[in-house]
Amino acid sequence: QLYNQVQDLKGTIRVYCRVRPFLRGQSNGQSTVDYIGENGNIMIVNPLKNGKEARKVFSFNKVFGTNVTQDQIYADTQPLVRSVLDGYNVCIFAYGQTGSGKTYTMSGPDLTSEQTWGVNYRALRDLFQISTTRGDVIRVDFTSTIHTLDIRNNSQLNGLNVPDASWIPVSSTQDVLDLMKIGQRNRAVGATALNERSSRSHSVLTVHVYGKELVSGSILKGCLHMVDLAGSERVDKSEAVGERLKEAQHINRSLSALGDVISALAQKSPHVPYRNSKLTQVLQDSLGGHAKTLMFVHINPELNSIGETISTLKFAERVA
Ligand code: ADP
Ligand code: MG
Repeated sequence: QLYNQVQDLKGTIRVYCRVRPFLRGQSNGQSTVDYIGENGNIMIVNPLKNGKEARKVFSFNKVFGTNVTQDQIYADTQPLVRSVLDGYNVCIFAYGQTGSGKTYTMSGPDLTSEQTWGVNYRALRDLFQISTTRGDVIRVDFTSTIHTLDIRNNSQLNGLNVPDASWIPVSSTQDVLDLMKIGQRNRAVGATALNERSSRSHSVLTVHVYGKELVSGSILKGCLHMVDLAGSERVDKSEAVGERLKEAQHINRSLSALGDVISALAQKSPHVPYRNSKLTQVLQDSLGGHAKTLMFVHINPELNSIGETISTLKFAERVA
């Protein structure tokens, strides 16, 4: 099998850390990233009130610094994506506080410029291209499934039966491009509202793939979930009240349930607590067992994000 380059990853969890650059207009202040080493190390520096500094090293499969391009990110994601053609189930997550670059990694900042495309569009393009160039050798059938769903609002969510989700059938690269353009338009119209909303809900893009086994001709069914998670920031109880507080607590619970599941899988624990959140119930078949998982954790290097940066990295170390 051509695409099965990452068999060693089966049932394992990979964690990539990405540091977003300081944005234009932001004070180019002190970065909390002291250095990024080879072998997936990152050192965080935390200036203390007494004038001293605390430093800590965290280790992941890879760490991507501020100058790493979307191309390079996808190069390190592609083998996992392609293994879907060999019948694997794959989950790719983006985790981090709001503003840390999750959507940048998964979708990119500007759909009209292919160079800036994120993982999800590159993955779709890749799978479509392979399926067309290989013609009858490998069949990728996207007929059923792209969907985004707002897990937060869905009380009847049950297994993969997702009544509120919007399912959009696609059958070609052009369909996907059209879909992206629609998404882009919507984004331009309701940018603020959408940002607000997307930071408070998980969005899941699912692609089902039917690959053809070269020798036997049997169909290999694989599934790729690409998940832009809700912002991981902790809620300040003094600021959030009522519905807003409940919602924030719900998000925090679902993220920690996800952490519990991935960490149980990473430790090969006999009990994996899938049932503790809707998110993990929906993704159950694609987490663990025959599946492969990649978690991108994002950090914002600004000094005033140091608290969230450390809690993000601790979360990530627990699942690695
Ligand atoms: P999140 O989805 O985590 O809330 P975004 O992806 O929306 O964060 O990123 C916040 C801002 O930072 C956006 O303006 C985005 O374009 C920018 N940004 C994020 N990551 C990068 C990066 N790697 N390079 C350049 N700009 C980035
Ligand atoms: Mg986002």
